[in-house]
Amino acid sequence: MIDYSLNYENIDSLVRNHFSLDEKSQEEFSVKIKKGTSVDEEIINRLDENFRIERNLSILDLEELDISWKLFKYYFGEYCFDKQITYSEFLLNSRVNQKNISKLTKDVRQYYSSGGTAYTLKNNEYDLEMQLTKINNLRLPRKKLKIVLSFNLSDMFMCSSGQDWTSCLNLESEYFGCYWLGLASLPFDRNRCMVYIAPQNPKEPMNVFDVQTERMFRRTFGLLDENDNINILKWYPIGFESDFYIPVLNRLFSSFAFQEISEDFVAKHEPKLPTLKRAKRGEKISFYIYQDKTYLNENHEIKFSFEKGNQSFNEFNVENFGPFVTCQGGLKRIKSLGSEVVNYIGKHITCCGCEERIHEEDVMYYDDCPYCSRCYEDVVCEEEDEEASW
Ligand SMILES: [Zn+2]
Repeated sequence: MIDYSLNYENIDSLVRNHFSLDEKSQEEFSVKIKKGTSVDEEIINRLDENFRIERNLSILDLEELDISWKLFKYYFGEYCFDKQITYSEFLLNSRVNQKNISKLTKDVRQYYSSGGTAYTLKNNEYDLEMQLTKINNLRLPRKKLKIVLSFNLSDMFMCSSGQDWTSCLNLESEYFGCYWLGLASLPFDRNRCMVYIAPQNPKEPMNVFDVQTERMFRRTFGLLDENDNINILKWYPIGFESDFYIPVLNRLFSSFAFQEISEDFVAKHEPKLPTLKRAKRGEKISFYIYQDKTYLNENHEIKFSFEKGNQSFNEFNVENFGPFVTCQGGLKRIKSLGSEVVNYIGKHITCCGCEERIHEEDVMYYDDCPYCSRCYEDVVCEEEDEEASW
């Protein structure tokens, strides 16, 4: 069992020591993280004492959401039909064949090599071994599994850490772009929840920077809309994108309604943006968590009711790509040096062409004006055209 109150304390000190929130934002962060959630009372009433709901996944639930099974039936449809293959047989990778128990994969190989009609060639994916490998890679582990709906800030803070897959929100990521900084904005987003699949009986919680987390085989964020529906964003690890989950979620968590996020999405609460301590240059920088499928807009005309902050994290919209805090070695290094984020704020320069902010390392100069690579090419091409037309 995760010790949540210990987690709240340890996340708070991790952020306080290394994330460089300004005084006001840190104060608000601390209050929210110690409470454990930022969601409203009306939602809290539907959750357990840790702001979660846990449900065990039955074999029927798994059959419905398991992408590897869907793919197996798609690739080997004729075999499945012919041999009346059940999901249990698929899960256990074995089938009772008259008296003998044989491995399912072995049986598939045999079926297609000895007289069974060749499987159809779809999307050029006709290599049997390649198909079996792909299915194998998509399989859920053969364990008793549960699915968790969580509005718990500690669960969300640890959304990508300590797993055997990674994302830009992994606290241990050594990638130079410090996207994990965005995690400190979670308490300021009152719309957010997470859904994940984990073992029913975990041994010991895992530990990353003294914060405990569960094993998550799949996870996605969800966002509340004006009608309190939960809009599902994107499943991680990458490659497990699926809408097969929606009916299962609606059935298991019946006090909520789930849907895939769509263009019509408007968040229930407008997110507030935390701000960082002022860096040497004196810029006031607000930031936000990396946005999958949503973005914070600059004007109020666009559907998503997120607001862009001053000198923001640049992850609010895809055109403004790239983190402003950069450190090779990430939080691991910053922590080992006893340092903090404010010392790693990259210098950003505005492009003379499109007026987007670009990291100083990516700037290209032409006639002493800074340009992003795209605008630079345009300017140089124009110049060459002019010369050519002389
Ligand atoms: Zn530009």
